[in-house]
Amino acid sequence: MATEIESIDPIERGKLLQNFVMNSEAERLATFKDWPFAEDCGCIPAKMAAAGFYHCPTENEADVVKCFMCGKELDGWEPNDDPWKEHKKHSSKCPFLHSKSEREETVSDFLKTERDRQEQRIVKAVEVKIKEFLEQAAATREQMSNFSAGK
Ligand SMILES: [Zn+2]
Repeated sequence: MATEIESIDPIERGKLLQNFVMNSEAERLATFKDWPFAEDCGCIPAKMAAAGFYHCPTENEADVVKCFMCGKELDGWEPNDDPWKEHKKHSSKCPFLHSKSEREETVSDFLKTERDRQEQRIVKAVEVKIKEFLEQAAATREQMSNFSAGK
């Protein structure tokens, strides 16, 4: 079963999310050159790309993929995994999962897709900022309580 990757440098995340060309299924498919699952299984490149993923391996993890829309990253793929189902399971609100198939996409659908994608990017960036703020607030609170306790 694929697992979620929680921690990624926000700057890297931003860069990848801005990777506009990944809106295209063909471009996503082209990223799966060194994908470990080549044939006769649930997560072959064609199915991965169709489910919105592109391949972005790291030094330590060869099977990291990312959704071009919601930015969700998954690794730990197994041959029987269904990319579409894994996507739904880990990122059920992803707009891509609720959109039409790319083949019948019109220009206005495309623009809507791009709008949704940018919206996801902004939501993610804001989430990162909120988390940073809360961490900073907690650290400050800790310092203040140490100070008032005379430490
Ligand atoms: Zn997604």
